[in-house]
Amino acid sequence: MPDAAPPTPTPPPSLPRRLVTALRRWVDSGAGGPVDPQAADRVDWPRILPFVVLHLGCLGVLWVGWSPVAVGVALGLYLLRMFAITGFYHRYFSHRSFKTSRAAQFVFAVLGNSAVQRGPLWWAAHHRKHHRHSDEAKDVHSPHVHGFWWSHMGWITNRANFATDFVQVPDFMRYRELRWLDRFNVVVPVLLAVGLYVTGEWLGPAWGTSGMQLLVWGFFLSTTVLFHATCSINSVAHVIGKRRYDTRDHSRNNWWLALLTLGEGWHNNHHRYPAAVRQGHRWYEIDFTSYGLALLARLGVIWDRKSLPRHVLEGRVKP
Ligand SMILES: [Zn+2]
Ligand SMILES: [Zn+2]
Repeated sequence: MPDAAPPTPTPPPSLPRRLVTALRRWVDSGAGGPVDPQAADRVDWPRILPFVVLHLGCLGVLWVGWSPVAVGVALGLYLLRMFAITGFYHRYFSHRSFKTSRAAQFVFAVLGNSAVQRGPLWWAAHHRKHHRHSDEAKDVHSPHVHGFWWSHMGWITNRANFATDFVQVPDFMRYRELRWLDRFNVVVPVLLAVGLYVTGEWLGPAWGTSGMQLLVWGFFLSTTVLFHATCSINSVAHVIGKRRYDTRDHSRNNWWLALLTLGEGWHNNHHRYPAAVRQGHRWYEIDFTSYGLALLARLGVIWDRKSLPRHVLEGRVKP
């Protein structure tokens, strides 16, 4: 019997083929199959082009100028979408800090998706891993392991981190609408951008604005600032601030980051007890997201909010 021929290694896909796959993934994040393990650790340049365009779009402010309506729309969209990210992408989808209906879950998933931070399942899956391995090698956005800039935004450009790790979010896999939103997570941001432009063109003359002005302020500027404020929790809030609790990571409490992110800056508090809906552990620790969630609870939109146990509030280690 002759020896079996050694298996021939599969040649890497050609450049045009790789580009086509990257472009397909702009629209359908599940297209093109799994990432080649040998190339998983590289920056996916074609795929992050929209992310670069998002930042460059902010420069449009030099041409379109400003108006009270455009600034108001940018601020309003910042606050609404930040609330959807912190209240729902983070405290609900990642930590199950309260319960809600399937309809409200979807509405807030869509609002969160409009912040251009990919789908709710992708976001929650990464965040659950962050808590499991905080500031260890498996924490893909730890500034202490991978450096500050990588923890802030480098990690999201990495090919390996584009896919949603569905194993981390088994509790949400039965919702087809969430899986669809997660897969086609570009649809809502594009609708928002087009909607802002069309609204500006339509009502602009009466409101003292224009389509391009609403697009630049309401989409490019508002989204970019929102993106970096959220990313600061991974980078800044693990480096700068105070540590009330001796957690096994480097998380910090940071009041100005808490104001900017509607409560997420109380990050050391959060790592101490991630399941609680509240992240401000003292009356003076302003946490706008938990106030907003209290309002939604009064309106009957959410319920069963998880509170902080007394032993945590009193600073004791065990009950
Ligand atoms: Zn953290
Ligand atoms: Zn968390």
